[in-house]
Amino acid sequence: MNGKDINEFWHEILRAVEKDIPAPTFHSWVEPLVPVSYDDTQFLVKTGHLLASNCLMNYQTAFHSAIKQVLGSELRFHIIYDEELSKTLKKKVQSKKEQLNETNLIDVKENKFVKYEQLKQMQSACNLNTKYKFENFVVGAGAKFAYAASHTVAEFPGKKYNPLFIYGGSGLGKTHLMQSIGNYNLSNSNLKVKYVTSEDFLNELVASLVKGGDKGSQMSKFRQQYRNVDILLIDDIQFIAGKERMTEELFNTFETLYLKGKQIVLTSDRPPKEIDKLPDRLRSRFEMGLMADIQPPDLETRMAILMKLAEVDKITMPLDVVEFIASVFSRNVRELEGAYNKVTAHASLYERELTVDYVKEIIHYTENKQIITSTFIIEQVAKYFSISEDDIISAARSQKYSKARQIAMYLAKKHAMESLTEMSETFKKKHSTVLFAYKKISEDIVVNNKLAKDIELIEKTIK
Ligand code: ADP
Ligand code: MG
Repeated sequence: MNGKDINEFWHEILRAVEKDIPAPTFHSWVEPLVPVSYDDTQFLVKTGHLLASNCLMNYQTAFHSAIKQVLGSELRFHIIYDEELSKTLKKKVQSKKEQLNETNLIDVKENKFVKYEQLKQMQSACNLNTKYKFENFVVGAGAKFAYAASHTVAEFPGKKYNPLFIYGGSGLGKTHLMQSIGNYNLSNSNLKVKYVTSEDFLNELVASLVKGGDKGSQMSKFRQQYRNVDILLIDDIQFIAGKERMTEELFNTFETLYLKGKQIVLTSDRPPKEIDKLPDRLRSRFEMGLMADIQPPDLETRMAILMKLAEVDKITMPLDVVEFIASVFSRNVRELEGAYNKVTAHASLYERELTVDYVKEIIHYTENKQIITSTFIIEQVAKYFSISEDDIISAARSQKYSKARQIAMYLAKKHAMESLTEMSETFKKKHSTVLFAYKKISEDIVVNNKLAKDIELIEKTIK
């Protein structure tokens, strides 16, 4: 053991490796690693997460070169699972939970998500969220085919339907099914899985092009990352439309993987033929495997989804309450889940029994009136500015979109009966981004009459 200085070495290795690993992965998986020992063959670290080593597999090369840089020799990088460490981590999460319990309502609502925290930490280098599993997916008529297709692909990756193209409206379970394929393989096979949204793919591509490096070394790193996997999952592919460099890179990645018999899964809010400005050669690739659409769930399925959530949380929810919530929140599953979380958080906070009347109170239900959710606010803001809802959720930085996005976040924070976590999920942005937008618009509105007027008009449509 080189007890004394191994920590210093590890610290330097961390610094060296940080630039090669996406920040969320680095913080969830790499930072919590604890150095154990090293000799002339290997560098040993321990982890409290069972999945860490699987999920950091893609970064072996990065670790090797960091170790070489710091220690001057080529050592194997080895991660072992340590149960004690795992217990300490769980205790930390528990004490955070208790802290939250003592604070106000908003925090309690957040608290509902603390239980996801452990799961989130399991979110891997593969970028998978372990909450998305086949077992948690309620199969209604509208998603039966997509479910069956996804399950088959999970069992026989690269062998049956390649690519699998899942499409359908927002909040209907596309990401859930896609990530289930990944999670299934993380627990049942040793295959390398990589999940990415098309926006992240684009951002990484741009970053690699900008960084360049010797003989385009950044680009080759980027390519290697995507071409060296057994299952590639690309979410929300509709965003690539019109981005030439990206479609080209994607096409080449697709060809490479496809020829090697590797599985590709894609999702989109619409079928390939409705994605504008998609080059024909890419469109025909997307269509050559199996296309599966997801339709909104019917009332029975929505009820089943609520009952499943209640079952997991060990909450008793009377059938009339289930039916009431399922009939009010009919647009999509994301909203339905949001309503469930809000209602159960309230009931547990005030130790009240769940009845239809109490639920009406919590969700501010009025006959014939739209319930305000951030999804609904996004729809209204998009309509007002004549842009698409996707433009608001996307990362597009042009002023037009970013202003609409900030206004939507401001209004959501002000009117939607949702926790910050729920809002962040809907906007696909960080908590701090939503809070920043809220603060910025609150300040600007005082000095900018045009902005105040815009907001007043949008508010009329949501109230
Ligand atoms: P999409 O990617 O189509 O926009 P998501 O997969 O993100 O939608 O689904 C939104 C939320 O609804 C997720 O939390 C997901 O787990 C849940 N969900 C969607 N469909 C179902 C279903 N059939 N059964 C259980 N949960 C579902
Ligand atoms: Mg999605």
